[in-house]
Amino acid sequence: MHEEACVEPLHPWGAKRKRDRKNIELMYFCQVIKEKEWDMENHHADTRESVRQLFDTVDAISVQGYDQERRVVYWNIGSEKIYGYTAEEALGKKLEDLIIPESMRSNVVSSHKNWVNKGIEIPASELTLRSKSGRDVSVYSSHVMFCNSRGEYEMYCIDVDMGDVKKAQSQAVSKEELLKGVFESIPDLFFLLSEDGNIIDYHAGDSRKLYVQHENIIGKNMADFLPEEVSAKFNASIAKAMVDGGVLSFEYYLDLPIGKAYFEARVSHLRGQQQLMVIVRDITEAHETAELIRKQAYFDSLTSIPNRFLSLDRLSQMIKEMDRNGEKGAVVFLDVDDFKKVNDSLGHDAGDKVLIEAANRLSSTVRESDTVGRLGGDEFIVLLGSLTECFDAVDVVEKLLDVFREPFNIDGRELNLTTSIGVAVFPDNGESATDLLRNADAAMYQSKELGRNTYSFFTKQMNAMILRRLEIEAQLIGALERNEFEVYYQPKINLNDRRIVGVEALLRWHNPVMGQVAPDEFIPIAEHTGLIVPIGKYVLAHALDFLREWGQTQRQEYTVAVNLSPRQFRDQGFVDFVKESLRASGVAPDRLEFEITEGVLMIGQSCVDEVLSTLHTLGVKLSMDDFGTGYSSLSYLRQYDFDLLKIDRSFVSGITTNREDRDLVTATIAMAHSLNLHVVAEGVETAEQLTLLQELGCDIAQGYHFSKPIPALEMMGYKLAERSMAKN
Ligand code: C2E
Ligand code: CA
Ligand code: CA
Repeated sequence: MHEEACVEPLHPWGAKRKRDRKNIELMYFCQVIKEKEWDMENHHADTRESVRQLFDTVDAISVQGYDQERRVVYWNIGSEKIYGYTAEEALGKKLEDLIIPESMRSNVVSSHKNWVNKGIEIPASELTLRSKSGRDVSVYSSHVMFCNSRGEYEMYCIDVDMGDVKKAQSQAVSKEELLKGVFESIPDLFFLLSEDGNIIDYHAGDSRKLYVQHENIIGKNMADFLPEEVSAKFNASIAKAMVDGGVLSFEYYLDLPIGKAYFEARVSHLRGQQQLMVIVRDITEAHETAELIRKQAYFDSLTSIPNRFLSLDRLSQMIKEMDRNGEKGAVVFLDVDDFKKVNDSLGHDAGDKVLIEAANRLSSTVRESDTVGRLGGDEFIVLLGSLTECFDAVDVVEKLLDVFREPFNIDGRELNLTTSIGVAVFPDNGESATDLLRNADAAMYQSKELGRNTYSFFTKQMNAMILRRLEIEAQLIGALERNEFEVYYQPKINLNDRRIVGVEALLRWHNPVMGQVAPDEFIPIAEHTGLIVPIGKYVLAHALDFLREWGQTQRQEYTVAVNLSPRQFRDQGFVDFVKESLRASGVAPDRLEFEITEGVLMIGQSCVDEVLSTLHTLGVKLSMDDFGTGYSSLSYLRQYDFDLLKIDRSFVSGITTNREDRDLVTATIAMAHSLNLHVVAEGVETAEQLTLLQELGCDIAQGYHFSKPIPALEMMGYKLAERSMAKN
């Protein structure tokens, strides 16, 4: 071989020379060929065969042999793969007619001639040749020339496809560009650190995000410009990343002139480079959103104190802690007395202000470590932890009552409000959050019953009550299907002619487990669970059926009164059910009376207005039940189209002995008559009561004096007794 070949002459074909890994492989192959050439020249003629065999099966590299006239004498499988010609197609063809593009042909021919004749070697180079299909083929091409046994020069070309390399190169270039674009466009900060934590390089799309003069940071350590606790976090993560590998992330914040800013840092060790990559992201916005979401999920939006969810969570935490430390704690349940009145008379805005003020007063009364939460509506909870004695809670509870007694100044008005409080103590009154809350609630009800504005601790009797309540709740489920209900009827007597005008339908429940359960006990529970809806339908259907049959046998125009609970008004299908039941029974609508208490009107929902006015339009009668016990608000009587007013049993029982009761009954009758309402006295037990009621002008009476509520069949036969009374 000629020495000049190694000096890298200007390439005769005008191509650039490039060294890379592929070149090195090629050089190795050339070396092999040169050694074989040496063999051939010096030893056996068939060595050329062995060279060819060597490359016959190599498909990654194209090896072509050309004779002195550049006709193909050898064409391996790699050549077919790169250039597309099979060996049969290629053999005998001339190099320049085969894979050399038009523009290079003369150059190739003359370079080859120069090599053969003058020994000017064609150096290896990158070339763009042409395939059978006319496609450009980038190859790195090396060439060797030797003299065969016949004294003729043969040139061997060893070409490696550069397509892959080119592709990889262009990908690498675009990756670099992409990365640059990424660095510039995303707000993250990138730092490259040496293993001892010094900054080697950084990228900051927005250099303001660095929060330091950025000329200053190369060569510095994080500790040089970050607060101590933050740089400690960096150092710890760097140390850990170098040991454990992977990506470590942590959050930190900086107090900046613009406010608190939150960051997330990700540290990874680039082991090969002995460097660390740190990516820092400003997460202030996400942090603020998360904080807002947390607030909305856990805090009451009106008062900003913990909501029900968080309060109960805190209670569970407190229970665990007290359990561990063997301490006691108290759950204090507060309900603002007559809060509804505030809302109704002064509007919801004033109501909201009262709740905010109440939350503030409660919060400022207890220790920082105690929780004050809003359970909903006008119900609050206070959690008192770390008590040594139940009695310790008493002081706090009395203070809580006191802060309410101070008048509330709302919109320039002084409101006098009170609260009813119930207290349950851990672990004495329950060991779970649900039990404690339920028991505190029960104790609160006790306070309401005691006349409000007071507190009660949970007691054993309350516990018994709760257990009973739970049993009723359980037994009520399926009671209707098991046919455990029966409707009883109590007659109502017209005091003018002493004749029966109708009955009140009163539900009875015979349960195989609990025996007879009084409606005063189970109706509120059925109301609470919603079971009153199907049960109420059952009563209405039976009452109407009874009335039809009774009216037929007696040929009398009786009425039936059915009691309605608040929950039934929220039942979408209620009015339709009433219409359908009236139609099916053939009972005229004005024979049906619905008895409702003030409680129904006080739920203050639009559905009540709607249902009542539809019922009125239907012609159904409306009766105000238990008058005198609630607020006995005249406004309700005026607002709705009532037909009857029922004076509560508690006043009737006192009229002959108690002056106040008699005055109240007298006034009620006068007032009712002025509003065109008929008056029914309920719970009439004695002849004296009856006589007095008659004197006071009461229209109708109902009570044990005439009859207890009795089963339908018995009621059908009640005619005799009626006659005997009429004779009197
Ligand atoms: P209420 O509507 O005030 O019914 C009158 C209650 O007084 C009935 O109690 C009746 O048995 C009782 N009573 C009648 N006359 C006398 C008397 O002279 N002396 C005494 N001591 N009591 C008398 P009852 O049947 O136990 O029902 C209690 C409450 O349960 C009812 O009070 C009503 O609010 C509710 N209730 C009963 N049945 C139904 C129903 O089907 N649906 C709904 N929603 N509530 C019902
Ligand atoms: Ca009633
Ligand atoms: Ca009543």
